[in-house]
Amino acid sequence: MFKNIILNPRMVRLEVSTLCQLDCPSCSVKKLKKKGYLTADKFKKFVDENSVIKKIELSNQGEVFLNPDLYEIIRYAYEKGISVSVNNGANLNNVEDRVFEALVKYKVRSIICAIDGAAAETYKKYRAGGDFDAVIDNIKRINFYKSKYHSKYPLLHWQYIVFGHNELEIPQAKKMARELRMSFKPIIPWDSTISPVNNKEFVKRETGLEFKGINDDIENQETSYHLFILCTQLWNYPQIQWNGDMLGCCCNDRGNFGNVFEQSFLDVLNNESMNYARGMLRGVVAGREDIPCSTCVFYQIMKENRKWISSSQIRLAKYRQKFIEIFFKLAPEAVIYKIMAFLYSKRV
Ligand code: SF4
Ligand code: SF4
Repeated sequence: MFKNIILNPRMVRLEVSTLCQLDCPSCSVKKLKKKGYLTADKFKKFVDENSVIKKIELSNQGEVFLNPDLYEIIRYAYEKGISVSVNNGANLNNVEDRVFEALVKYKVRSIICAIDGAAAETYKKYRAGGDFDAVIDNIKRINFYKSKYHSKYPLLHWQYIVFGHNELEIPQAKKMARELRMSFKPIIPWDSTISPVNNKEFVKRETGLEFKGINDDIENQETSYHLFILCTQLWNYPQIQWNGDMLGCCCNDRGNFGNVFEQSFLDVLNNESMNYARGMLRGVVAGREDIPCSTCVFYQIMKENRKWISSSQIRLAKYRQKFIEIFFKLAPEAVIYKIMAFLYSKRV
């Protein structure tokens, strides 16, 4: 049997909204049975009851900026000395007026903005219902307040899913990202059957990404990266849904491990099913049907290859996150973007 350690992490992922105004073709949000947003009252109660938590990721599925309590959530987090980020991504189409300034004033650490194109028509092909010009204007408004407050926060990252229909706009998007004080993060789509890339050589030259075939993202070069980043969340950086359901990792939409608004966070985090799931990922107990991981594609890959999560990977993922935090805190904005561009091109 595996060693049952009691976890008490200082980082959690507490999603603030599963609402979204767009209709991206491969989005899983539309399949969710329970949609909604986290209220400021619930956020405050959670934070007050778990004072050890010092970092909260606000995004998961859905659009963070559609949460009507977002202003109060980031203000309260700042007051309590908690750093917050939007690193799973946002579409940034609609932002409440007072939130622009709050993002800077209350030092939201970083925002990954999903913009898959460098022109309005291209952008809409995947981000259906989205408005490219509004997104760019919203980024400029954040930058206005960054200049006003002489702040590097929030660091802004342009995430670009590379498709056949937008591959030729990569150079233009990189240029725009530089002009908008953003890093540029090209990624492979989860489903490579949607508008597959045409000129793989060109894309590799421009982004460092290698497209090989169907389901590139799941089956090829990023698999071990995903296992490392996603599965270790069960130990270091657990994902909670807006309604308090403990999902464990940000990839899980198949079930939960309990509810942190109904029981204590630490009780849920260390309950039997969470620990059993950790044992499954370590390969020391057999798969069990009631554990959400049992039907996850990453668990199936691990099982087929008999390649399990190691204790050094869990530690490494934790220290990697700590290192990123310290680096973001100390380094100047331009240096951060340069180093991130290098790391993205090497897929580190
Ligand atoms: S912007 Fe994100 S949450 Fe919204 S539909 Fe697209 S992928 Fe889904
Ligand atoms: S196996 Fe899947 S659901 Fe389970 S932690 Fe890993 S990525 Fe998440």
